[in-house]
Amino acid sequence: MSVLLAPRGTQSAELTVDLGAIAENTSTFAARTSAAVMAVVKADGFGHGAADVARTALANGATRLGVTNVDEALALRDEGIDAPILSWLNAVDADFGAAGLAGVELAVPSREHLDAIAGGLGRGHPRPNLWDEGAPDPTRSPGAYVHLHLDTGLARDGAEPEAWSDLCRAARRAELDRTLQVVGVMGHLSHADVPGDSANSTARTRFAWGLQTARAAGLRPRWRHLAATAATLTDPLAHHTLCRIGAGLVGIDPSRTTRLRPAMTLQAPVVTVRRVRAGTPVGYGHTWTAPAATYLGLLPLGYADGLPLSASGTAHVALRGRRHPVVGRISMDQLVVDLGDDPVLPGEVATVFGPGDAGEPTVAEWATWAGTIEHEIVTRIGSRVRRRVA
Ligand SMILES: *Cc1c(COP(=O)(O)O)cnc(C)c1O
Repeated sequence: MSVLLAPRGTQSAELTVDLGAIAENTSTFAARTSAAVMAVVKADGFGHGAADVARTALANGATRLGVTNVDEALALRDEGIDAPILSWLNAVDADFGAAGLAGVELAVPSREHLDAIAGGLGRGHPRPNLWDEGAPDPTRSPGAYVHLHLDTGLARDGAEPEAWSDLCRAARRAELDRTLQVVGVMGHLSHADVPGDSANSTARTRFAWGLQTARAAGLRPRWRHLAATAATLTDPLAHHTLCRIGAGLVGIDPSRTTRLRPAMTLQAPVVTVRRVRAGTPVGYGHTWTAPAATYLGLLPLGYADGLPLSASGTAHVALRGRRHPVVGRISMDQLVVDLGDDPVLPGEVATVFGPGDAGEPTVAEWATWAGTIEHEIVTRIGSRVRRRVA
């Protein structure tokens, strides 16, 4: 047996985010709808860098941003991003005052949230939303900008239909008190990735009822939004006045109908190459044994860096334009590749996944190998991996 080591100065694993791909995907969505486009940049822009994705999307057709919690919204403000931002999932005691001062719009899933937001902001002087509303009216505080959130069928976030008309009436009273303005009504689809599923039409009907109820209470929400990536691509009836696009921006299409451009490439150098005899077992638990003499390459990437352990035994990486299997169990910090007789040298760079242009594996393939979805792969790349924006 012999082991070859990588030369000194060999780089560590590196994740490249292709902002050109994000720009192209954003344009694709903007061209698919006459509704406005909200770029959803929660979870650090689906792992691609929230501020980079936000700026790129805003420069290519998106006009609004969406995130989960207020902290994510405030982090974008700290980056100097002044576009409208909606935050849709917060505890009832979240810092709504800070959100209002930063001009962050808030989703309201319950009466308790409504009261907390009205109370928290009634005392403050929220920043008016200049993008949508033009110059502020100096004679009055605009109050908080809110989007009432109706549960349209996931039993997850959003108000239950039974609580909806009370929520709408209370919101209207708060408008008249000038503590808030209802600028939006939102719902979400459970089956948008299965376009023909009857759950979609049920949800659309419930959403239409929710809008009617809001209108009957005297509300005039400008932003009416139900569709995310998949419904924007497959269901024009769900578009209303705003589409919320997250996964699609980074090249993931849950409906599998549209060619989008994956924005992530993950690469790692081969740090050692060793020659092993037939019958040599590899890795924890010896789950793989070399059937013949072969070369094994070691990559400094493991599940702590976001590669799923469950892809052990099925995953591949590309080296010199050819695919090689990952063998044995993926470890926390490393994985082993069977190079066969390919004369790969330490220091050469393996592509773990990329857009697939050169035959390298894609995030979609890794998701299949691991029995998961692409979203889970891209949002879990670890902090140890160096990041580069291209
Ligand atoms: C994450 C999320 C989105 C974005 O969904 P994609 O399918 O990734 O476009 C939209 N709306 C809500 C409420 C979300 O949580």
